[in-house]
Amino acid sequence: GFRPASRIASVGVSKILQIGARAAAMKRDGLPVIVLGAGEPDFDTPDNVKEAAKAAIDRGETKYTALDGTPALKTAVCEKFRRENGIDYALDEVTVATGAKQILFNAFMATIDPGDEVIIPTPYWTSYSDIVEICGGVPVLIPCDAEAGFRLKADQLERAITPRTRWVLLNSPSNPSGAAYSEADYRPLLDVLLRHPHVWLMVDDMYEHIVYDGFRFVTPVAIEPRLKSRTLTINGVSKAYAMTGWRIGYAGGPKALIRAMAVIQSQATSCPSSVSQAASVEALNGPQDFLEERRESFRRRRDLVVSALNAIPGITCRVPEGAFYTFAGCGGVIGKTTPKGRRIEADGDFTDYLLEEAHVAVVPGSAFGLSPFFRISYATSEAELKEALRRIAEACTRLS
Ligand code: PLP
Repeated sequence: GFRPASRIASVGVSKILQIGARAAAMKRDGLPVIVLGAGEPDFDTPDNVKEAAKAAIDRGETKYTALDGTPALKTAVCEKFRRENGIDYALDEVTVATGAKQILFNAFMATIDPGDEVIIPTPYWTSYSDIVEICGGVPVLIPCDAEAGFRLKADQLERAITPRTRWVLLNSPSNPSGAAYSEADYRPLLDVLLRHPHVWLMVDDMYEHIVYDGFRFVTPVAIEPRLKSRTLTINGVSKAYAMTGWRIGYAGGPKALIRAMAVIQSQATSCPSSVSQAASVEALNGPQDFLEERRESFRRRRDLVVSALNAIPGITCRVPEGAFYTFAGCGGVIGKTTPKGRRIEADGDFTDYLLEEAHVAVVPGSAFGLSPFFRISYATSEAELKEALRRIAEACTRLS
């Protein structure tokens, strides 16, 4: 029979994808399911980006490219880091891959030996711990509760560091919590890292452009240049430019790390898609004004969702600084009983109940390493959000 490799033994198919598949099956059966599970903007890729891709095809840019990014895209990435983040990376200090997910994969494959530890604050994007495990590492999960703004604190970081710590992985704004680190939030953490020169810092800035209420996004290397020689700054076009399907992510970091990551990439994909790279050059170099409009639209939806959630007895939701997720506490419904007589023991029971009885698909906090919570992705129309929140509220009133 089939025997999977031990490296994937403890790694399952993403819970988020499982819920998505179940919701899709219910929809096919004719049930009016509203899916608030997907982690992608509902906007379309901007027209100028699509045109750039078509032009690249017509020019014949349909072959393998340079291993870890075309010179044009690497140049655009360096300019982006300079313009938007105030960091100077040289061309050989940036890399391009098939999504930020492959950047993470390349980086961990290239640096983790069996037993090496990676500190990951929870709630975290599920892939972080799974990728670390596939690479033979040990995810060290640190709970960061709503009262702490879902942010890691310096003393927690200090206590988690051991001689085996290879990386600390921070994500701001965060999937799933929407929490973001200001410069003042980052400073004490960076001071801890300065005292532990063997620990490297990986930052996932994927949601940089989706921040609200004047929040000032800042990335660690811009705050503390002394950490530049051991930081990997990850970003991508998926979320900001509504380009999830184009599969382009990029990163800046020290040359030796970038070179090691290229070794992995050379045997995994040879290079990112040529057409997607041409499109990404236009995304980074082209007009950026639509970002503001989309941000405003996301902010309206965030406000709608947060206030509707907080009006439901038993549910509490902090106001997230960014991304397009809310991570609401559902401790108040744990222990209650559904109309069918089933007891809600954990957040997964609550989200099952919402899917089955309210036909709303959301993801339990357990999928992100922190309970009892549930994540709503509000990257969908206001009309759908209103209807979904109405159903969630109504379903909660039926619990006893
Ligand atoms: N980082 C975070 C925090 C994400 O939420 C996601 C996607 O959900 C990614 C990275 C992956 O993005 P990409 O599409 O570039 O692989």
